[in-house]
Amino acid sequence: MVKLAIIAHDGKKAEMVSFLMGNIDFLKRENITIVATGTTGSHVETAGLKVEKMLSGPLGGDAQIATMVAEGNVDLVIFFRDPLDKHPHEPDINMLLRLCDVHNIPLATNPATASRILYGFD
Ligand code: PGA
Repeated sequence: MVKLAIIAHDGKKAEMVSFLMGNIDFLKRENITIVATGTTGSHVETAGLKVEKMLSGPLGGDAQIATMVAEGNVDLVIFFRDPLDKHPHEPDINMLLRLCDVHNIPLATNPATASRILYGFD
């Protein structure tokens, strides 16, 4: 089983849906499970995928996913950050990025990287 965590900031949600649609065959495989922050999760559902939804990012969703990373329950994180916007939960975002590095979990922060990492899991 591969557990994939998905997060997209508001300015990147459309890009995330487009990325998911472009990789739908891979993502719909039986051995893939998806967890997402709340609002991103709703977008993932509209793309036709099953998803476990955490809290919305600013309310703790990134922190919940960071905990899953720390506990070894996530295999891959796709996090489309919006580098042109400010975020009230910046500490949680940094915690998630840091814990991916601490635990050597693949982390993609843009579609080009995410595509190549998915290819690696294929
Ligand atoms: P959201 O959270 O999916 O609930 O919008 C993402 C984030 O802002 O980190």
